Amino acid sequence: MTTTISPAATPFMAQYLKIKAEHPDALLFFRMGDFYELFFDDARIAAEALDITLTHRGQHKGEPIPMAGVPYHSAEPYLARLIRHGHRVAVCEQTESPAEAKKRGSKSVVNRAVVRIVTPGTLTEDTLLDARSDNFLCAVFPDKDKGTAALALADISTGVFRVLETELTSLTSVISGFSPKEIVYLDGELATGEWFSALRNLNIPLTPHTTRQATLKGGKEALTSAFGLTSAEGLGQFSATELAAMGLLLSYVELTQAGIPPELDFPQRDTLQSHMMIDDTTRQALEIDRTQTGARKGSLLASIDHTVTASGARLLSDWLARPLMDISAINSRLDAIQSLIEADDARDDIRSVLQSMPDLDRARSRLRLGRAGPRDLQTIAVGIETAASLLPFLADDGLQQSVSLTHVETRLNRGLAEGLTALNSRLRDMLVDEPPLLISDGGIIRKGANAELDHLQELRDNSKRIIAELEAEYQSDCGISQLRIKFNNMLGYYIEIPARFVDDFEGHAQAAHFQRRQGLANATRYSSDRLIEIARQIESANSEAKLLEGRLFAEMVEAVLQNSDLIRDLSNAVAELDVFSAGAHWANTVQACRPDLREDRHMAIEAGRHPVVEAALRKEGQGFVSNSLTLDGNGKSPRLKVITGPNMAGKSTFLRQTALLVILAQTGWYVPAKSMTLGLVDRVFSRVGASDDLARGKSTFMVEMLETASILNQASDRALVILDEVGRGTSTFDGLAIAWACIEYLHDTIRCRGVFATHYHELTSLAARLPFAGNLSLKAREWRDDLIFLHEVQEGPADRSYGVQVAKLAGLPKLAVARAKAVLEELEASKTTAAVTDDMPLFSFNEPDEPTDSDIVSDTSGPLLDLLAQTNPDELSPKQALELIYQLKGLIDQNR
Ligand code: ATP
Repeated sequence: MTTTISPAATPFMAQYLKIKAEHPDALLFFRMGDFYELFFDDARIAAEALDITLTHRGQHKGEPIPMAGVPYHSAEPYLARLIRHGHRVAVCEQTESPAEAKKRGSKSVVNRAVVRIVTPGTLTEDTLLDARSDNFLCAVFPDKDKGTAALALADISTGVFRVLETELTSLTSVISGFSPKEIVYLDGELATGEWFSALRNLNIPLTPHTTRQATLKGGKEALTSAFGLTSAEGLGQFSATELAAMGLLLSYVELTQAGIPPELDFPQRDTLQSHMMIDDTTRQALEIDRTQTGARKGSLLASIDHTVTASGARLLSDWLARPLMDISAINSRLDAIQSLIEADDARDDIRSVLQSMPDLDRARSRLRLGRAGPRDLQTIAVGIETAASLLPFLADDGLQQSVSLTHVETRLNRGLAEGLTALNSRLRDMLVDEPPLLISDGGIIRKGANAELDHLQELRDNSKRIIAELEAEYQSDCGISQLRIKFNNMLGYYIEIPARFVDDFEGHAQAAHFQRRQGLANATRYSSDRLIEIARQIESANSEAKLLEGRLFAEMVEAVLQNSDLIRDLSNAVAELDVFSAGAHWANTVQACRPDLREDRHMAIEAGRHPVVEAALRKEGQGFVSNSLTLDGNGKSPRLKVITGPNMAGKSTFLRQTALLVILAQTGWYVPAKSMTLGLVDRVFSRVGASDDLARGKSTFMVEMLETASILNQASDRALVILDEVGRGTSTFDGLAIAWACIEYLHDTIRCRGVFATHYHELTSLAARLPFAGNLSLKAREWRDDLIFLHEVQEGPADRSYGVQVAKLAGLPKLAVARAKAVLEELEASKTTAAVTDDMPLFSFNEPDEPTDSDIVSDTSGPLLDLLAQTNPDELSPKQALELIYQLKGLIDQNR
């Protein structure tokens, strides 16, 4: 159905259609009283996504108008679901009351305007956000001539604002390190070419945006206006591309906040040289913050994250996404963890205090955006108190050894002294102990905090008593004990006299002070000047109390905002303390060791363990076998290792474990090993397992080759490369040739450290030919035709691959296993697949998974014939005959 405005549209519909036309890409939440209503296609989409009823309201162009609605007071969960389904929602509010609209004419439609567009990257509500992850919006602006792109990243829910510039070739790696929830790009001719296709492949919602601010000049203007500055110079030195990206970001944020300037902290410039690079494929393969299915549980982050505060969890996720390249910065984190491991009493105390730390960052942001409630003020107070109560534990002698921890202490002390203690007293003096959710609920100010408010509230709350006193007075003056003072919405307060006393009353002197308002069959209603005055006082006390409360709330918000930077610093310091103590707690729990970081290219892991697999096995009561690895990038012994061994022996686990330990070490985290020495790695590359990307038109092999090409083209001699079964997706010789060439290239040209798992045994001979390559293998033992995995890594190549035994363990039909063994023996005898395939039809099974009946009968013929030979049909009773048939059938089934 088209929804253009026709002359026949009612004024209400015309208003709706006009606003909807301004937001064609968003679902329009149209406020009508206590509901947000959706119409036309928006209603159909929402009804399906939210599982709510689709109804109809009135007609447009002769057709009923589809409508669906969600209650205003509980709209957030619905919003959350729509955003998760990939929609954007424009929230349109009433900007005047129906009474105000009526003043313009009895048929006037209430004015409405869009106050916000809710998109995945611009959320602020706790219920819509994941407390333990950042919620970055990312604006990308390329400079194709320079071959770079700038990224501006903002988390509106915390106020964090970052900017950086990167090579176009690394763009997606850098973006994926921030896991943004939405990417904005400048709509137009720049949005073409390879960089843009790469962006699309990230699978993050992409939003085109048109603005004049995505230029050097526009960016400067956007910054000065967002931060209320006269010039952007004071914010730091930014490139033209960075300014364009920031302009793009600020303009988009302003659009989604319906013109309200974004409330962000000053932009922080990131330098990529200070971080290890990890591309998107590697992040996915190593399951750093998400598993391959997208779950947090089961990732490296989930297994090491023992933080107890939301901001701590977000900080750890940020650290792990961007490990460091600076040894002294890494060591300063490790020093803090070490001090907290040693001072275990202080650590436990700190962690138990931190449990009560609320999310200061998100409360502060809602206060800045004018979206806060009374509980956000309480959050600020509790946060300040919790931070203050950490100080005595930080004074511990052991903790004073760490520069990072003393820096935390300094920042806490400074924040408290420079204003936060005073702010806390003020909030505590004013706020009730348990404030309501909304300011409109009233009752947020403590009794005794403001004399005027107390007076107004007393007047309001005493209304019952005051009215009762007046009623008693009138009863005695008029001598009518049945006289009552009542209230209804139409008349307000009134005096009611039952009909049988009215004549008496009219003759009474008091009647002169009463005005008749309504006559009913059984009573007459009056009012009096005194009653009108008291009613006015009660009503105005009520609304004045509300207004005054609103003013006091706004003053408290203002006081918080004046301390906004101190609150941010305090919150950052507490988040760091949480991460350090979580690191110490984790290291203690899993017996991790402090890595020794160096500038050279050596790497030695003694008895390393895979943190996630180990934890999973422990839950099942099984142990993990630790393994060691040395890669000597200094040119004395092998820096590349080829690893062979049976399927399921643990090759992939060992490979990933190596990369994960390197990432943990450079994050400044302890590592699950007996010891680890690590010459810094600038980039980790990993391609593990092959997967089709048919949706994007790429086969398994193509994906594998693209990823391998990107490694060979980008790795430096400081990289660590982990390759699992390169060349698996094509014919044996092609695959072997490609894997061979890759290893040679990494060895001779790139000279980086690396581990390759392969089933091509031919590759093990490379170790003899290349001076800095070596072989490792995983041990397995055969026992009574079965295979036992020892998961132990040893020097030298595997003796054989045991694929057929693993297939048997997996439950391949016996017939297929027997056939595979036979084929294998012949292949091994001839030593070349080509020779064998010529004279041996490898794929000649007649549907191998489902053997024919004659196959089964011939396979079981021995026992069947034996049984039949022992049988004399003449001696069988009908029951025995039936049993015999069951026995024969059983023999056949066993072999199926
Ligand atoms: P494939 O060649 O089939 O890919 P693989 O050799 O790469 O197999 P993995 O996938 O690494 O084998 O490991 C298989 C399983 O073995 C793991 O899921 C884990 O349960 C177990 N395993 C691996 N390494 C160890 C270890 N060091 N200690 C204990 N169990 C392990």
